[in-house]
Amino acid sequence: MVGSVDVLANDLSINGAVEPLPQDFDVAAIIKDPLPSLVAENGIVKEEAQINEGNEKRKIVLGRNIHTSCLEVTEPEADDEVTGDREAHMASVLARYRRSLTERTKYHLGYPYNLDFDYGALSQLQHFSINNLGDPFIESNYGVHSRQFEVGVLDWFARLWELEKNEYWGYITNCGTEGNLHGILVGREVLPDGILYASRESHYSIFKAARMYRMECEKVETLCSGEIDCDDFKAKLLCHQDKPAIINVNIGTTVKGAVDDLDLVIQKLEEAGFSQDRFYIHCDGALFGLMMPFVKRAPKVTFKKPIGSVSVSGHKFVGCPMPCGVQITRLEHINALSQNVEYLASRDATIMGSRNGHAPIFLWYTLNRKGYRGFQKEVQKCLRNAHYFKDRLVEAGIGAMLNELSSTVVFERPHDEEFIRRWQLACKGNIAHVVVMPNVTIQKLDDFLNELKEKRAAWFEDGKYQPYCIASDVGENHCLCALHK
Ligand SMILES: *Cc1c(COP(=O)(O)O)cnc(C)c1O
Repeated sequence: MVGSVDVLANDLSINGAVEPLPQDFDVAAIIKDPLPSLVAENGIVKEEAQINEGNEKRKIVLGRNIHTSCLEVTEPEADDEVTGDREAHMASVLARYRRSLTERTKYHLGYPYNLDFDYGALSQLQHFSINNLGDPFIESNYGVHSRQFEVGVLDWFARLWELEKNEYWGYITNCGTEGNLHGILVGREVLPDGILYASRESHYSIFKAARMYRMECEKVETLCSGEIDCDDFKAKLLCHQDKPAIINVNIGTTVKGAVDDLDLVIQKLEEAGFSQDRFYIHCDGALFGLMMPFVKRAPKVTFKKPIGSVSVSGHKFVGCPMPCGVQITRLEHINALSQNVEYLASRDATIMGSRNGHAPIFLWYTLNRKGYRGFQKEVQKCLRNAHYFKDRLVEAGIGAMLNELSSTVVFERPHDEEFIRRWQLACKGNIAHVVVMPNVTIQKLDDFLNELKEKRAAWFEDGKYQPYCIASDVGENHCLCALHK
């Protein structure tokens, strides 16, 4: 469009010549003062002090105060450019950080992140600002994208979950949460007055979606295993037969790794008189979405069943070094949700605008390297190691539970916060869990166990005190307290 450039040039010019800057143009006069200091005399950051002064109630302690260890941003000295001191300082900070990451990676058991990977081949791409903004299937005008990788990855997942290429729509999200937010949104757009049903042990992002979209939400009870209680589900359905149902089905709950029985959920919907056009099922596979397909006894997640969407996290079992995820839904549903955005020359069906264009390349790389067979092997290893770990815990007199389809071992919460932090365990009430991912070896589990046994003897003063009861969390048969032993 040569014409439009001419128009622009004409606007800026007087008699055809671009207007020059005034002679006395003073750069300093238009540049703002440097950042004002936030630190008050007593060392407390001013903004924080003001919040506390104004409203005592806001003094909630959310975790440890990160300000004691934060890395301050400092302004360059005038002569820094010459001496290179700043570069040296930053390099040493980064080197130290790198060492601490190596250390923390070694002692990590609590979150379902596979930390075993080598993406060295992709470091050459760090120099590019890769952004897949908007819809993966419609090219926007921004050319530095990785849609060719993204759609390749999506095709792979669509095949895994048995949806034809011309019948699915999906995108690579920023995380499992975004997949859930999208899945529930699609459900809401398809069934605008639908009620959201989700088990108590669903991820908090599901309830966040209900709040964000102002949806009526029914929390369904769970069994001891953490699975949705389908009798309670049906009872709740029968109370609201006049409204459609949007259901979140967990393919692995966050705390107990419980897999909801998809077939039973569908059966209960039918029994309660909900025809397929009056319900929408979103499968939250953030945790086990890519493990279940390789476990024979697991309920099969497939679009051959009446489900609307499936999401999975890319940084969990798959092992991406940055948060990401995959969301797949039926193309027909997307038409209900999308609007055209002229500015992007695209369709607007994603939650986010700009999207990480590096993530699809990491996923593509991993899928190519491992393939179905590779994932299958890793799943087997994880399940085997999880069983090993659970058996060793029980042997040591520590109450523990492992769901049949899961690699999440739930056990008595260790007594010492320092120990919990060292091993980066996730805890909830009286229980903690270890999620056995491909990087969690038998050796690591043994190290953990030995340390736990040793510490535990000290905490309980060699039998003087009893471990507390975890029966209400995992059932009596998994508890080894004095009463249930
Ligand atoms: C981790 C998790 C999520 C959220 O995934 P993020 O990638 O952390 O946003 C959602 N659902 C379940 C069951 C999870 O375990």
